[in-house]
Amino acid sequence: MEINPKENLYKEVLQTMSECVIIHEKSGIMIALNENVEKVLGIKSDLLTESNVSQLEYVKEDGSPLPYSELPGIITLEKGIPFYNYVVGVIDPETGTKWLSINSKPLNMRKDGEQAALITISDITERKKMEQTIIHAKEEAEKANLAKSDFLSKMSHELRTPLNGILGFAQLLEIDDSLNDEQRDFVQEILGGGRHLLSLINDILDLSRIDTGQLKVSIQEVDLQTIITECINIVQPLAKKKRIHIHNQLDQSQTMSVLADPIRLKQILLNLLDNAIKYNQEDGKVMIFSYLKRNDAVIHIADTGIGLSVEEYQKVFVPFYRIKGTQEEGTGIGLSLVKQLVQLMGGRISVTSQKGIGSDFYFSLPLPYDLKAAMHWEEEMIGLPTKNGKSEHYCLLYIEDNQSNLNLVKNILKSQSSYTLLTAQSGKEGLELARTKKVDLILLDLNLPDIHGFEVFKLLKTNENTRDIAVIAVSANALPQDIQQTLGKGFDNYVTKPVNVKEFLTTIYETLTSTINQNIPEHKILSTGPNGEEAISAKTLQLSLKDLKKLREKNYTAAIAMHYTRNNWARAQIEGLKTTFNKMGIRVITVTDAELNWEKQVADIQKILAKKPDIIVSLPIDPLSTAGAFQTAAQSGVKLVFMDNIPYGLKAGKDYVSVVSADNYGNGVYAADIMAEKLGFKGKIGVIYYDANFFVTKQRLTAFEKTIRESYPDIQIIARSGFTSPNDGKEITDAMLSQHLDLKGIFVVWDLAAEGAMASARAAGKHDLVITTMDLGTNAAVEIAKDGLIKGSGSQMPYHQGVAEAILAGYALLGKPAPAYVAVPALKVTKENLLEAWKLVYNQDPSELNRYINHLK
Ligand code: ADP
Repeated sequence: MEINPKENLYKEVLQTMSECVIIHEKSGIMIALNENVEKVLGIKSDLLTESNVSQLEYVKEDGSPLPYSELPGIITLEKGIPFYNYVVGVIDPETGTKWLSINSKPLNMRKDGEQAALITISDITERKKMEQTIIHAKEEAEKANLAKSDFLSKMSHELRTPLNGILGFAQLLEIDDSLNDEQRDFVQEILGGGRHLLSLINDILDLSRIDTGQLKVSIQEVDLQTIITECINIVQPLAKKKRIHIHNQLDQSQTMSVLADPIRLKQILLNLLDNAIKYNQEDGKVMIFSYLKRNDAVIHIADTGIGLSVEEYQKVFVPFYRIKGTQEEGTGIGLSLVKQLVQLMGGRISVTSQKGIGSDFYFSLPLPYDLKAAMHWEEEMIGLPTKNGKSEHYCLLYIEDNQSNLNLVKNILKSQSSYTLLTAQSGKEGLELARTKKVDLILLDLNLPDIHGFEVFKLLKTNENTRDIAVIAVSANALPQDIQQTLGKGFDNYVTKPVNVKEFLTTIYETLTSTINQNIPEHKILSTGPNGEEAISAKTLQLSLKDLKKLREKNYTAAIAMHYTRNNWARAQIEGLKTTFNKMGIRVITVTDAELNWEKQVADIQKILAKKPDIIVSLPIDPLSTAGAFQTAAQSGVKLVFMDNIPYGLKAGKDYVSVVSADNYGNGVYAADIMAEKLGFKGKIGVIYYDANFFVTKQRLTAFEKTIRESYPDIQIIARSGFTSPNDGKEITDAMLSQHLDLKGIFVVWDLAAEGAMASARAAGKHDLVITTMDLGTNAAVEIAKDGLIKGSGSQMPYHQGVAEAILAGYALLGKPAPAYVAVPALKVTKENLLEAWKLVYNQDPSELNRYINHLK
């Protein structure tokens, strides 16, 4: 290897580096580019050869042996894979292990085309030693702390038993009539002291349980107002004694729920209130107030008491810390326990205070998901009417003659501050109320004493004043054909009696606004957008009744430009889009099918543009070839909403509204979890992927492989093959199974290809092969139901993707800001939840699928 004389400068630089720099050529020649080789590897630079280096003994960071062939430099040389800061140990029998951090990179600068790797190595032995010392010290400290906690916990238990005896007998004496006054006072002293001791022991016990991880909280949705009122009632006598006034400044008309363990939340509040009274002045005040901040509720307990200096208030959360000279009784444990409990429930606590003026202790607690999600990305967004005080107000009218049904609905709606309920017991009375009051939605019993429900509906729709009111049919009749017939007449929804409260509220909510099904299980979205954007859950999108009205007035039109229409996925998307557009008063003027041909899609877009729609929803077949057509559309002012893919060069917020996808990453994780569960967490598996640069399928594959690698170490992926057409599933699996006889499972990234894999395994007699896949085609669903070869899948919910796309188009037309990347949560499908999953995926009643499955049995 020659070094160009002009590169003398580089040579100088190389000499001044603390790392050693080596070029390793494929032919085996090694060249040291500076003198540090001796310092770092203990080999003189002119003696550096492959055989010298390969004789050294290497270990991985965990101490296990590392073969020479797996050194980063060698892998870079063989496979061209670069490495950064890869830690390797070199064992020296005399001086111990020397730790090295290695970077290696394929070298492409060679004129002769010979492959080589550029390797830099630094000695990090000192750093490693320091790390070890710190880790050791930390472990020792943790051990000592655990021993202390364990001791405290045992001691407390031992103390509680005799104390219970003392308190129990003292209480018996308390009610003994034969005692004189002085003896009675003595008993009170014993009781007072005993109770104080018991609360101290309980606190210590809690604190040590937190330290040893034994204290478990049971988090649920709790109403803050109720718990605060309870706590105030408990401490009121204490406050009265000191003439302290407690102001509860929480808005009484608002319900605010937080996620907390109710018993522990009470403990926190009682402790803070107790302190606020204890360390207060005569005639002082205690204020309780709260507000929402990002994803949390923040609760303040402020007082006008003695206050704390900065130095003091930085220490008050340390166990057993008490301020010098404090006259009040106490142990110094209360606040440290409060802090730990708040943290255990996912919150934080702080204090601000001023000596002589007062203190303000405040802590945060997470909000329940729906409220949090709704607030998450847009302040002005209305919340779920059931939970959020900020939401719009709706007037409902229930026309029903049965008194007990009326009472039930009245009770259900009583807790819903967003709804006012009017009731009528006959069709005539109902029509009158609908005409004269401002009603948003009517719940209409179909069997009324005077006029049949269908007739009432007809009269409502023919009257100018009542035509736009949404109507939900309420009936004891649950036969599918009757429900279909009623919906066919134009009713907005149908509820069967007896009502399921959660579904009833969801139906009302979904009729009044446009959202995706709020009953979809919520999970954190793991996928990121095509440009790395953070995903916003589609569950947070919604259009209010007011929004819907505004949209309906405009008579907008939309076009749907599909890549393909002849599968369940596309059909469900189109269905979700059409239903939601219909609700928004938006007419769908055309649905085109590009038959997976980008040239046809470009022509489709041009034809669509000639019709001047306000909205185009599309899945671009190829981001590059279709970019021009979509660019033209964007420039013409059409609102563009994309499924899964974005044409090159288009910018969110400027050229298009949003892109909607499934949580493909999350679905890949589910496919891996199911695979692992069904294999008993061990075995060799293969992966069949889609061999094209398609963003969504890649995310599923990455997620699957990463999850197996990181979460299931006893499962090895030993075979990988790609397909270009999903119809090749059988052929590819045939080859894979014949090469790897010990294969226990195969993940196939597409359900259609998984069907091919299934056929192949059957033909090969491999009836215990575990196949997991994506989505829920009918054949895959039937196979899952039969406990056949396909055991489960991570599925998209295309119907709801369609709903989300339509809502986003609505956002754009209303001028509301829309998130750039929206995803519908992932769904884990196995035999156990197959029918519910089917309903969520296609928004279709699963009874037909069920009949089909039963028929096959
Ligand atoms: P205790 O009240 O049993 O001493 P805590 O852990 O509850 O234990 O409080 C620790 C110390 O913090 C108290 O001793 C007191 O000096 C100070 N402190 C707590 N709350 C307040 C408050 N609201 N105002 C002033 N000082 C307070």
